[in-house]
Amino acid sequence: MFPIDFKSIQARIKTIDPKAYAKSRNFADGKVSMLSPYISRGVVSTKAVMHSVLDKHGFNSTTEKYIQELAWRDYWQLVWAEKNINKDLKKDQEGVENHKIPKAIIEANTTIDAVDKEIEHFFECGYMHNHMRMYIAFMACNVGKSHWLKPAKWMYYHLLDGDWASNALSWQWVAGSNSNKKYIANQENINKYFYSTQRGSYLDLSYEELSNLNSPLELQETTNPNFKTPLDKIESSVSIDKSKPTLIYNYYNLDPQWHKGEEYNRILLLEPSIFEEYPVGERALMFAIELSKNIPNMQIFVGEFNDLVNDNFLQEVIFKEHPLNYNYRGIQEERDWMFALKGYYPSFFKFWNKAKKEIKNYASN
Ligand SMILES: Cc1cc2nc3c(=O)[nH]c(=O)nc-3n(C[C@H](O)[C@H](O)[C@H](O)COP(=O)(O)OP(=O)(O)OC[C@H]3O[C@@H](n4cnc5c(N)ncnc54)[C@H](O)[C@@H]3O)c2cc1C
Repeated sequence: MFPIDFKSIQARIKTIDPKAYAKSRNFADGKVSMLSPYISRGVVSTKAVMHSVLDKHGFNSTTEKYIQELAWRDYWQLVWAEKNINKDLKKDQEGVENHKIPKAIIEANTTIDAVDKEIEHFFECGYMHNHMRMYIAFMACNVGKSHWLKPAKWMYYHLLDGDWASNALSWQWVAGSNSNKKYIANQENINKYFYSTQRGSYLDLSYEELSNLNSPLELQETTNPNFKTPLDKIESSVSIDKSKPTLIYNYYNLDPQWHKGEEYNRILLLEPSIFEEYPVGERALMFAIELSKNIPNMQIFVGEFNDLVNDNFLQEVIFKEHPLNYNYRGIQEERDWMFALKGYYPSFFKFWNKAKKEIKNYASN
């Protein structure tokens, strides 16, 4: 489902079909691009994907939808760079009854057939369709009345494409702490987009009834799972050539094109303190390690940034800017943002309207 080698990843970018995407994106079998695990791990940038689409198809009403979705990713990352996204962003989530997660969700036993099937599939492959992510966030937060944070951490833990900005802020968007109102979907909607025929479930109600629903029995039992990143399974060993500067890679930067062909030490840094705060499961961790093999001479260091630098007497250290690198010291390089826009935009569409001008400029040159 997710090849590791860089050539296959680049080939996947070329297969994006913006027209089919715009028509079918919300359906279970929609023509989505399945690029998020590579974008999240920093193997390819949103900018490179956007340029590939614009170079091939131009900017028009057909390509706009795909590029707008890519822009959401950069938008959420910009919000993360400016705000504490681990707490309710715009207003407190209303109606919270617990800070855990409904047990039925993590056991794929919600009794909503399409949802349970997709959760099972999620455990098998580490990927979930965007619409299903929304249904699950809705069920956890707006039906089961859980605060968004714990369920978001559960999803992030299992996702190959875990990106804390897209994750936390989408959960908050569904739960209404980062949007004007809570997101709602009923059984009919789930049946339509996931081709099921279930009737009579606790979600088989009108939207008005659903917005006033008490937590149904099926979602009332909650649990507080303890997530741990299996860093102990990773062999950590580095041998530094002191005549060369050092490039630092991490869970969010595995870019094989970064300073390609130049003389550097290349270290994949896995900091226990980061994975303590943002744990990921074995599948997601191993996926990142496998992706790092696209980068020649990569070495892995499990430990904190300061220990890496001090133990190995690193002189010149270079890294890419990211909110989780706040403790790095050295030369910080810019990420490949899609647009020159920076700072916090309270609304995506304000951001998007400015972004569109840049896209049109690019497309017309
Ligand atoms: C509750 C919830 C949690 C989410 N958690 C994550 C997460 O941890 N990591 C993650 O990468 N995405 C997350 N998303 C966003 C979205 O679901 C995925 O990016 C998308 O499903 C990835 O599949 P794709 O590459 O086939 O996307 P496509 O639909 O083909 O879209 C192309 C690219 O656009 C970007 N994109 C598309 N939709 C969104 C969106 N809603 N928000 C931000 N960027 C988007 C992604 O980079 C994606 O790869 C979450 C959405 C929700 C509702």
